[in-house]
Amino acid sequence: MAPITKEADFVVIGGGSGGLGAARRAASQFGVKALIIESKRLGGTCVNVGCVPKKVTFNAAAIAETIHEAKNYGFSVQETAPFDWTTFKTKRDAYIKRLNGIYERNLANDKVEYLHGWATLKSQNEVEVALDDGSTALVRANKILIATGGNPTAPPPIPGAELGINSDGFFDIDTRPKKVAVVGAGYIAVEFAGMFNALGTETHLFIRYDTFLRAFDPVIQEGVTKEYERLGVHLHRRSNLSRVERDPADGTLTLTYVTGDDGTESTVSGVDHLIWAIGRTPAIQGLGLENAGVEVNAQGYVVVDDYQNTNVPHIYALGDVTGRVELTPVAIAAGRRLAERLFGPPEFSARKLNYDNIPSVVFAHPEVGSIGLTEPQAVEKYGRENIKVYKTNFTAMYYAMMDPADKAPTSYKLIVQGPDEKVVGLHIMGLGSGEMLQGFGVAVKMGATKADFDSCVAIHPTSAEELVTLR
Ligand code: FAD
Ligand code: NDP
Repeated sequence: MAPITKEADFVVIGGGSGGLGAARRAASQFGVKALIIESKRLGGTCVNVGCVPKKVTFNAAAIAETIHEAKNYGFSVQETAPFDWTTFKTKRDAYIKRLNGIYERNLANDKVEYLHGWATLKSQNEVEVALDDGSTALVRANKILIATGGNPTAPPPIPGAELGINSDGFFDIDTRPKKVAVVGAGYIAVEFAGMFNALGTETHLFIRYDTFLRAFDPVIQEGVTKEYERLGVHLHRRSNLSRVERDPADGTLTLTYVTGDDGTESTVSGVDHLIWAIGRTPAIQGLGLENAGVEVNAQGYVVVDDYQNTNVPHIYALGDVTGRVELTPVAIAAGRRLAERLFGPPEFSARKLNYDNIPSVVFAHPEVGSIGLTEPQAVEKYGRENIKVYKTNFTAMYYAMMDPADKAPTSYKLIVQGPDEKVVGLHIMGLGSGEMLQGFGVAVKMGATKADFDSCVAIHPTSAEELVTLR
């Protein structure tokens, strides 16, 4: 069957955060004939197997924590309030399905043509789409955007590694596991381990070093690692799995792991799920980048400049496939700026995303937020003598009524630079950090100084007020 042929001004490969942001901005604001191709579900990683179902699960975990804490405020709640994971998952799946529909309607409203299928670059101006009904479409495009995101990194080649699942599989779990093991030390491992633990699952976390979240400021690395252990997460430091076996009798897994340098082997058995959360890999397989001569680096990320240009004129890339700050709002912002630059009026011709001072939050227990430089980075950049660090550790008033065992820590750190004490780093750990950081992010992005922070009258009683009264 001859392929259907189509033409478009702007063809976007990948209907995730970045692709949707770019295609919709191009079509709705500038009337561009845009076409988007998605092989799985609209919304991409964030909506289907990332931020959204994760945050909803985090909310469930937060409710479990509140139920546990309620007795401290005089409530008599059943301590073992049952959590029906299956009901929760059914509702969560339905919510995501609703979102998929909303995304599809948004595309129609914005007049973006949508093809469901697998896209392969055939040349610098042609994209072939393998459609669901077995036919193909050949789309000729003036401009092409690669926004294909990433996939969970495959586990190391140890015997039985394939018995584990990855972050996509986490969202398929439909009954509450009794016991899980998570391998990894970044955002995903820490968020998953915290949620499982709060929801009453025995949680083992395997990390290669002494702390997790090692890309974050030491106050966060050390603070959260310590708190996870206090909360009962079984933390296996300096440990690497060497073998995974399934017990034929009950289907659970036995994990063998090596700790430290002396090769000591230990095991954990009766594990319902092993989850590998060891990073993400750019989605470039089967994309035909070689047919168009698009350059990738040694890790497989598409190489782009500050304007999201690849080495091929009129082919662009953004979001996780470029490996630069892998966050949904980053992909969306990069996509919108690109559409504005390519299709907007002349005054938009220099639009690009500024990747400096991007705030991010880890939905850990407690939440952590970070913007700007860590203390080691600030020392390296400016020299120890040119920075000053303000910090505080305290117990949020919410916990004042609680037994010592139920009190979670709060730590804030502000890193300032130069005689005018410009804020170059802000790191917060504690209740409410997720919501708190956005506003402070605006201030840091505007170039606020310590004096600017102090000139804002505190809001009392809050935790955030400590950030404007640091001494
Ligand atoms: P994606 O959203 O991954 O979209 C790419 C799309 O391209 C996919 O839908 C894919 O199916 C499609 N595709 C790939 N190849 C082809 C092809 N050849 N043809 C057709 N379609 C193709 N970020 C946050 O900011 N906050 C969070 O709380 C957060 N939580 C996360 C939790 C988890 C578990 C994970 C995995 C990620 C999380 N992220 C979070 C990161 C966020 O999801 C990503 O940074 C974001 O989705 C990247 O957007 P993107 O457009 O680059 O790629
Ligand atoms: P990350 O890059 O954050 O962390 C992965 C970590 O796993 C590595 O840093 C490494 O830490 C550890 N690791 C790597 N290889 C191995 C191995 N073989 N065995 C054991 N541990 C290993 O990746 P994630 O998968 O957690 O998340 C991907 C990205 O998605 C994040 O970087 C973030 O940008 C985004 N995301 C954002 C969220 C948010 O905004 N809240 C939530 C979830 C994801 P070490 O070197 O210390 O061992």
